[in-house]
Amino acid sequence: ELAQATLDNIDKTNDTINSFISVNTSIGQEPAFEIAADQPLQGIPLAIKDNILTKDLKTTAASKMLANFRPIYEATVVDRALRAGMVNIGKTNLDEFAMGSSTETSYFGATKNPWNLNKVPGGSSGGSAAAVASGQVIAALGTDTGGSVRQPASFNGVFGIKPTYGRVSRWGVIAFSSSLDQVGILSRHVVDSAQILEAISGYDKHDDTTSTQEVPAFSKIKADVKGLRVAVPEEFMGYGVDPKVKEQVQKAINTLQQQGAVVESVQLPHAQYAVQVYYIIASSEASSNLQRYDGIRYGYRADDVHNLEDVYIKSRSEGFGDEVKRRIMLGSFALSAGYFDAYFNKAAQVRTLIIEDFKKIFADYDLVVGPTAPTTAFDLNSRIDDPVVMYMNDILTIPANLAGLPAASVPVGLADNMPVGLQLIAPPFAEQTIFNAAQVLE
Ligand code: GLN
Repeated sequence: ELAQATLDNIDKTNDTINSFISVNTSIGQEPAFEIAADQPLQGIPLAIKDNILTKDLKTTAASKMLANFRPIYEATVVDRALRAGMVNIGKTNLDEFAMGSSTETSYFGATKNPWNLNKVPGGSSGGSAAAVASGQVIAALGTDTGGSVRQPASFNGVFGIKPTYGRVSRWGVIAFSSSLDQVGILSRHVVDSAQILEAISGYDKHDDTTSTQEVPAFSKIKADVKGLRVAVPEEFMGYGVDPKVKEQVQKAINTLQQQGAVVESVQLPHAQYAVQVYYIIASSEASSNLQRYDGIRYGYRADDVHNLEDVYIKSRSEGFGDEVKRRIMLGSFALSAGYFDAYFNKAAQVRTLIIEDFKKIFADYDLVVGPTAPTTAFDLNSRIDDPVVMYMNDILTIPANLAGLPAASVPVGLADNMPVGLQLIAPPFAEQTIFNAAQVLE
């Protein structure tokens, strides 16, 4: 009944916000496996970002390339959510192949921010964030390669967490940048994300980068920050952060302090290079991962082709959008023989310096906090033609991906009537610290 009511509501509201690319029309069917009666997530609808494979249900990555692609298997995260009793309610909109920060590069049109329909919902998990913020669902899966769960969570006034790299399986997640990609969760309440993370985490024999670390009972949250050592990187409060955003973030930090946290200012000196490092590494890995869309095995194939090279060139030229092509070109260049050392290798070295910066901080602190994004949601169509301005928006979220750290965004107030998020970054596998601190602020 809840699933049906959810579908009816999506049907009524989706024309306005365009958060779903497709909905699951076979929800009445019996699941293929037994679900234990005492599952807390039983019957709860879950929206799934459309770059996560769902068996027999179209999975498009918001690209013309995969507009009619029906996977033959379920991503591990989806399989685990279903086994916990959740209902796959439908597939949410995203930037094409998760490349973007505004959900405007989707082949299926932009998603609108439910707080103000003239604003972007952020990206690339903008559909998931808008679906939660508008009340269509209580939770959604997203992916976060450079901020794609946290920045939309911030722009939509919801909670969003990217777990530690390796905490959650990437099997069945359409690969963008394999050393950065991680599935995350967006939800109205902190505890719901904790409950879902508990269900989807853990080792998966299909993904060798998953960790065998034990999965704690994340949902047993202790809303307590007494004695917690909190670091605020000076750099995070600079970087063109809007003063009104800063004000809300500072208020939240003060709350943590009043609740007993010890707050101190620190330095994260190499974070200033994060955007450059990220766009070289992510684009390089993307250029390799996206080689598989060649018009032969699956996905779009151009008509009117005369030889093999024609198949490749025309299918890729017609199947990919501009932003995806930009990344493939940038990545191929950075990896090419003459430039590998100057670009990819250099970026990998600076990535290590950023990892070291965090290690130093976490020797003395439990949590790093700051704004999730420098601004609130920006106007639709205002940045889409200026990739560099768009990329700079990710400066505060990217460092956690480069270092593989768990990080979340929790709503802390409004600036000019739009939501502001506080980012919480923890040491590897310390997601519980994030949930506990976020709960204090909810
Ligand atoms: N906005 C970043 C990009 O365009 C991050 C995307 C993501 O996390 N998937 O690459």
